[in-house]
Amino acid sequence: MALAYRLEQHAPDAEVIVLEQAARLGGAIGTERREGFQIEIGPNGFLDNKPFTLTLCRELGLGERLVPASEAARRNRYLFLGDRLHRLPNSLRSFLRSDVLSWRTRFLLLAECFRPPRRHGGDESIDAFVRRRVGRELAETLADAFVTGIYAGDPKLLSVQAALPRLAELERQYGSVLRGMVQAARLRRETAEPSSGRMWSFREGLTLLIETLRTRLRFAPLTGIPVRTVRRIANDGWRVQSEGRDGWDAEVVVLACPAFEQARLLADEDADLAKAIDGIPYNRLAVVALGYRAADVPRRLDGFGYLSPQRQRRDVLGVQWCSSIFPDRAPPGLVLLRAMCGGWGRPEMVDWDDEQLLRAIHSELRSAMEIEAAPVFHHIIRWPQAIPQYHLGHLERVAWIENRLARHPGLFLTGNAYRGVALNDCVEQAERLAERIAYATLRARMT
Ligand SMILES: Cc1cc2nc3c(=O)[nH]c(=O)nc-3n(C[C@H](O)[C@H](O)[C@H](O)COP(=O)(O)OP(=O)(O)OC[C@H]3O[C@@H](n4cnc5c(N)ncnc54)[C@H](O)[C@@H]3O)c2cc1C
Repeated sequence: MALAYRLEQHAPDAEVIVLEQAARLGGAIGTERREGFQIEIGPNGFLDNKPFTLTLCRELGLGERLVPASEAARRNRYLFLGDRLHRLPNSLRSFLRSDVLSWRTRFLLLAECFRPPRRHGGDESIDAFVRRRVGRELAETLADAFVTGIYAGDPKLLSVQAALPRLAELERQYGSVLRGMVQAARLRRETAEPSSGRMWSFREGLTLLIETLRTRLRFAPLTGIPVRTVRRIANDGWRVQSEGRDGWDAEVVVLACPAFEQARLLADEDADLAKAIDGIPYNRLAVVALGYRAADVPRRLDGFGYLSPQRQRRDVLGVQWCSSIFPDRAPPGLVLLRAMCGGWGRPEMVDWDDEQLLRAIHSELRSAMEIEAAPVFHHIIRWPQAIPQYHLGHLERVAWIENRLARHPGLFLTGNAYRGVALNDCVEQAERLAERIAYATLRARMT
């Protein structure tokens, strides 16, 4: 939707047609209202670590309706380690005082400044990177939990260069991640740049962004249209075919559906390209929204929620305290939590029936948050192919795919499978791609 919006701006003469398989727009983004609760089925919000989504929202006239995550959610995140929640340190000083890590690891963390950077290039897993820079304990606790929070993936399989490029870049540029972070913070202070990393949404939920984009497009997106084939028809055109429809002829086609779907659509046109795209794996997730009476939750919900490192193989990867992050998520006197289950390490959980899932979560919440009472509300969303996993070799694969696309003028690929899974990354890629397409189309017309 962001791509279509920007394309219409860059190429005002073009007829941009969005074909969406589902009955609703938004894909992973979706806000549902049930029994007075407001539930996000996918992303809970977006970060302002890059300006793209915030800028888009403001440009669409949604600036006044944006809400940042509460101050408590920004300050307090917890880690479920051993048998209790530990507050995660959010500054270097609090890190050194925190009991989450042993003295030895805290010392190793400081010593990271003096550890020489890696000499040879090549891909490296997040786990190997953190072990090399600091040590095993940090890799198995904080790094694992951090990866769980973003990818629900395996730090031993995820490529640091692809999945957490900033870490690899800090080492490359400053010789040390810690030194790089300190210098970046100093630079921000000197230039009075506001600190970033806050989560944003709308009082009405994230769907507002999709709805607003829909109303701004000149050509209404077509929903309920599952595209089945994409074939080249001549030197300068493509035919997009859906079930039981004649199809659409287009000068430019962008596939913005998940990688496995892109692969399916391209299988007849270029089997090798389809195979490379299909090699991007996805994890599975069950998102379980739970409503409780506030009085039944003994612990103060003074933060974002908690994460549990996947190495512990617990039934719940993490719990977001939704009604403490954004306003209007639960009716008065009630609270809304969102538990994440499954992930790369526990895919089978997504197939558990509702009762088994709820039982497992209840037991986890009793241990982590001392909640004894049953929820007054629940809603389960299953994502059989949830978040793409940037495993070792991902960037090489993406470079190969991009090279191969040179054989198919007018065909472009985007979406979360390639260069960032966060909503902000997807908007950034859409913006960059819209510019590239406008430029490529103009050049093709001039030659
Ligand atoms: C549970 C969950 C929680 C998340 N939490 C966060 C978060 O808090 N913050 C954050 O920044 N990111 C989060 N993400 C990641 C982020 O939401 C996604 O990476 C991003 O929204 C993906 O956008 P996309 O446009 O690439 O793909 P999608 O949203 O998957 O959109 C692809 C679209 O293609 C359509 N489609 C598929 N096949 C066809 C076909 N053949 N023909 C036509 N249409 C087709 C689909 O129906 C879908 O609408 C989360 C993701 C999930 C699943």
